[in-house]
Parts: sequence; C-alpha cells; structure tokens
Amino acid sequence: MYKIIDGREVAKKIKLDINSIVEKRKQEGKKLPKIASVLVGDDAGSIYYINSQEKVSNSVGVLFEKVILDKNISEEDLIMRIEELNNDKTISGVMLQLPLPKEINEKKVINTISPLKDIDCLTYESIGKLFSGEASFLPCTPRSVVTLVESLDVNLEGLEVVILGRSNIVGKPAIEMFLEKNATVTVCHSRTKNLESVCKRADILVVAIGKPKFINSNYIKPGAIVIDVGTSEFEGKITGDVDFESVKEKASFITPVPGGVGALTTTLLIKNSCEALKNYED
Ligand code: NAP
Repeated sequence: MYKIIDGREVAKKIKLDINSIVEKRKQEGKKLPKIASVLVGDDAGSIYYINSQEKVSNSVGVLFEKVILDKNISEEDLIMRIEELNNDKTISGVMLQLPLPKEINEKKVINTISPLKDIDCLTYESIGKLFSGEASFLPCTPRSVVTLVESLDVNLEGLEVVILGRSNIVGKPAIEMFLEKNATVTVCHSRTKNLESVCKRADILVVAIGKPKFINSNYIKPGAIVIDVGTSEFEGKITGDVDFESVKEKASFITPVPGGVGALTTTLLIKNSCEALKNYED
C-alpha cells in the first residue's frame, strides 16, 4: 500500500523552524534575514514566483524586498544594481528571477551575485563548492527532493538512487547531494538505453524530465520511493512526469504534483537566507 509524501506538511515544519530562528534573533537584537529578489521586466511566471517568495517570507518573519527593474535596463545598470545589493549589509540573500531579457548576458549577470548571498546557488563559485562537497547553499529543487526522502527517516547509505534528467538545476546537483548521503547514484537522460530496466533497479526514483505521465508502473521496483519533480501543463492541469495512478500500485511512497517537490522549494530558498547570516557579523 503506497503512502503520499506531502510536501506541504514538510514545508510547514520547516517554516516553523525558520520562524523560531527569526524570533530568537529578534529577542537577541540580532540582524534578521532579508532577501532582495530582482525581477527584470514582466514575465508572468517570474511575477508569480516573486509574489510567492514574498508571501512565504512574510509568513515566517523574513524581511523581503522586491527589486523590480525595467525590461529595457542595460546589462551594465543591472550589474551595478546587483553590486549595490551585494554591498547592502541589511541583505543576507540575493535572488535573480530567470530568464532575463535576451539582450542581457545571463551568465555574466548571475556571476555578479556575491557567493555569500547566492541563496539560489546559481553562481559558478556556488556550483563548484557544491561539487567539492563544501556547499555554501544547496539549490532548492534538488534539496527539496532530498528533504522529502529524508522526511521518511530513510537511511540513504548504499541505496540505489536513479535520477532521470541531467539538467543543471535539478538532475546534476541531485547526483552530488545523494552521493553526499552515501547512496549509489545512476543518472539517465534521453540517450539512456534500456531505461525501464535501469529505473527498475531504483530504491529511490527521481524523475525530472518534463514529460507528463511518462513513467508508469513498468519502470518501478516494488516498494520504491518515487519523487516526481516534473511540472508540465497537460490537459489544462499542472502534471508530473509520473503516471500517479499506474505507479501508486507498486511504489511504497510517492510525491503528488502539485503538493510534492514544488511545495517546498520556496520555503527552502527562504531557509537559505537564514543560513546566509552565518557569513555576517551581527
Ligand atoms: P530540462 O532542462 O527540461 O531537461 C530535461 C531532462 O530530461 C534532460 O536531461 C533530458 O535528457 C531528459 N529527458 C527528456 N526526455 C527524456 C526521456 N524520454 N527519457 C529520459 N530522459 C529524458 O530539465 P529540468 O529543467 O530539470 O526540468 C524537468 C522538469 O522538472 C520540468 O517539468 C520542470 O518544469 C520541472 N521542474 C520543477 C521544479 C519544481 O520546483 N517543482 C523545479 C525545476 C524544474 P537530455 O539531457 O539527454 O536532453
């Protein structure tokens, strides 16, 4: 019999932890976590995301500043604005909504963010540190994946984790994060041969391919934990990469979409803004 891993419940607990850190700091008269979130232009997805960051931050007592910039801003002015945020001692975390307008060199701007404030783990320095086992910040989506598995009190040591998808934001950092937990990790992608049989080895199957309902019960080892990262629009609904109805017959635990991985990512971003405070004097 399968059980659902409820991302919203896990997020609630983390929010309580964040709130008690903030309250304790307030009582001690210490600096509070503060996020500056930069939005260039008016991309609908980014507006939705920045509003949700603000709402969650407010709910846990983390300070939040929206930095809305004109879509025609020059690369130079955008870089200058980010440098100002880097130098602002009241701000512990800087977020940049992506994508940026096409005319702007996205990589260059991302790498202007101070690695001490890079709560979304976007800069080359943050990524390099992650892969050297010295992460300052963990990227939120793969961290959500690992956090959901750990919420089950599973000892990951020696377990077979199969990750579908090798994107820079999910699949690749997830490899490192599961390796850190001493799991045995295999990563699959669009050229992987015998995908079904590789997936069937997995004690934990993580799917991040952006293909709605692609994974059915044929890919699942009985008793596997299945984490669905996918969020595609399918028949008017946000749909995961896993065919829930088919897979639930074989899995021991499974994340829903929505309400699984995505329900946790913003909370983890805000948690990073608290962890960033260790980089500063009070
Ligand atoms: P992505 O950049 O869209 O890349 C897709 C990956 O899946 C690639 O590595 C690709 O292989 C692989 N792939 C595609 N078709 C495949 C197939 N038939 N068999 C095996 N592998 C296949 O990945 P992403 O940005 O990580 O996004 C993946 C999904 O996660 C999307 O639905 C996205 O919306 C969702 N997502 C959700 C969250 C959240 O917070 N819930 C956050 C980020 C992403 P190749 O490398 O060989 O092309």
